[in-house]
Amino acid sequence: MPNKPTILHIALQSPFYHCFDYLAPANCAPATLQPGVRVKVPFGTKERIGVLLSVDHKTELAISKLKPALAVIDKEPLLPEKLLQLIHWTHDYYHHPIGDTIFTALPKLLREGREVDDLVIPLPPINNDEATIPTPTTHQQKAIDAITTTSGFQPFVLDGVTGSGKTEVYLRVIEQIIQQKKQALVLVPEIGLTPQTVTRFQNRFSVPIAILHSQLTDKERLHAWLLAKSGAAAIIIGTRSAIFTPLKTPGIIILDEEHDQSFKQQSGLRYSARDIAVVRAKQENIPIILGSATPSLESLYNVKRKNYLRLHLPERTGTATHPTFNLIDLRNQKSHAGLSETLIQNIRKHLTNNGQVLIFLNRRGYAPTLICHSCGWVAECKRCDARMTIHQQPKYLHCHHCGATHPVIKKCPQCSYEQLSPLGTGTERLEETLSTIFPDYPLTRMDRDTTRKKNALHDLLKVINNNEPRILIGTQMLAKGHHFPNVTLAAILDADTGLLSSDFRATENIAQLITQVAGRAGRAEKPGEVFIQTYNPQHPLLLQLIEHGYHKFANTTLKERQAAQLPPFAYFALLRAEAKNKDAVFEFLETIKNATARHPTPHPSHPAPNPRHPVLDTGSTSTRSVQHPKNTMDSAVKPRNDAEQLLKNNTVSESQLL
Ligand code: ADP
Ligand code: ZN
Ligand code: ZN
Repeated sequence: MPNKPTILHIALQSPFYHCFDYLAPANCAPATLQPGVRVKVPFGTKERIGVLLSVDHKTELAISKLKPALAVIDKEPLLPEKLLQLIHWTHDYYHHPIGDTIFTALPKLLREGREVDDLVIPLPPINNDEATIPTPTTHQQKAIDAITTTSGFQPFVLDGVTGSGKTEVYLRVIEQIIQQKKQALVLVPEIGLTPQTVTRFQNRFSVPIAILHSQLTDKERLHAWLLAKSGAAAIIIGTRSAIFTPLKTPGIIILDEEHDQSFKQQSGLRYSARDIAVVRAKQENIPIILGSATPSLESLYNVKRKNYLRLHLPERTGTATHPTFNLIDLRNQKSHAGLSETLIQNIRKHLTNNGQVLIFLNRRGYAPTLICHSCGWVAECKRCDARMTIHQQPKYLHCHHCGATHPVIKKCPQCSYEQLSPLGTGTERLEETLSTIFPDYPLTRMDRDTTRKKNALHDLLKVINNNEPRILIGTQMLAKGHHFPNVTLAAILDADTGLLSSDFRATENIAQLITQVAGRAGRAEKPGEVFIQTYNPQHPLLLQLIEHGYHKFANTTLKERQAAQLPPFAYFALLRAEAKNKDAVFEFLETIKNATARHPTPHPSHPAPNPRHPVLDTGSTSTRSVQHPKNTMDSAVKPRNDAEQLLKNNTVSESQLL
């Protein structure tokens, strides 16, 4: 139909679920209008950068109301067709606005409209000087063969304890991928992307490697992204957001420590990089390796259903022995800021024997709350009624639930009593206590607060690897994949937060932590001991875990999940509503409850139409924010002015579908 105008459907970064319709720019050659190119468009009184999604002759608006786009920025699509499909899937599965989903996948400079055609991208340095490459063990060889003889999509769960040689398997597999002139995308936990990891890859391969992590400058990030897109980088190593990196010739995706919670993005576009990785591998028709010493229950369930293939590395390489477990019954024991007498004695013993000790407490800050001893008042967050955590360096109150902050309160707002005290123990307080008990031993704390600054984590790891601190205190962060050859004692101060939490994944997470921590103790010739403090020493899951190991525990827990109809046996959505006015919250939630009652839950354990379609992390959180301009409290998610105009008619109060 020659007379019908061409309509461009364009995604703009906005809180809207739909895309925006424009006419083609004046004098624009139709061939330049390829989905995936960026387009400059007028929006309100400003110009915005958008991504072209599709071109046709349809629009629901009056043609006379449409404005022409201003210009096409890219000569070829920035986002290849398959990646665009993946982004569509992500937008749909996580109920997140399409524009915001696309823009999450783009480096900042590209979001801002930076042209790429005449950028000169320096190739990363190549150094290749690994002296000896170990000969694979029989188990490793079996895994390598299984993966490299696969053609097409197949997820593998590489299940092997820490130090069993999983990384060595990745390296061998990647070697073959490179020989086929294809690319390998390797995702690691945030904390796992250390210079040691990168060096290990660089020393092995004489090919350019692109690194993508959160501490790059905008320019470095753009370069790494373009190296991947152009195919110049044969290996791409990154943290969760690297799952959206365009690849010219994808050959394999590898996720190391696939159970790690940092693969979930918990704000903005909420997604599980592990699940998106599986979907991407399926789309690209390539294998994917999910490696872990403690695979997630979702992945183990997929193994049971024969969606994923399990490859097992049962032994540690070298001489490392398995540590012994000790439960410390906290009932009727004196404790000093969460440390029992028994534990203190054992720490002393290991320190005098020249061991290094690791102490885990999954609670950062000084103390989890501030209490008035006169009237019982506790410091609660005004925004969300969680308790406010006390931080000492610097001094302030911080809600770890919603992020709100408040200056330290000196006087009880209820009874004016002036001696408010911290209640409970966080890592800062633990550090203070341990340095008082063991003043002669250097001590290091690793948590989100001590690693926030650029390079802080790398510097800390260097200090630790030089064996400087004898006592290491940390949150979960400390448990991940690092090699601490001198650690002989590892302690978990509070197993009960995991055992008694209302989060159905808490037991899984504490079991993973305990198993990973055990993997940290006694790696070299020194045997290790693990201490677990609990008020529930008879807890059956805890006993099963330490007596029979993670897999027995995982089996039991999967059965419990099935009985309770929890993921991965059912889909799960968490709804969170937020508004200044309580009634609006309840009214909204009630409406949703009534609406969902009409839809029976689809059941992932029923045979799927496509037997090879994996059961995804159905408990993944995704966010749908519908914001009422008047009720908006959080300036970070406040809609832009243009958007506000369009939202005026929106009657839904601020809410989040998680
Ligand atoms: P994981 O990734 O499972 O923690 P790694 O691949 O890092 O394990 O291996 C742990 C250590 O054992 C590394 O120092 C590695 O070089 C070494 N290693 C791995 N495979 C072998 C092997 N087949 N023979 C000897 N040493 C090995
Ligand atoms: Zn009081
Ligand atoms: Zn809060």
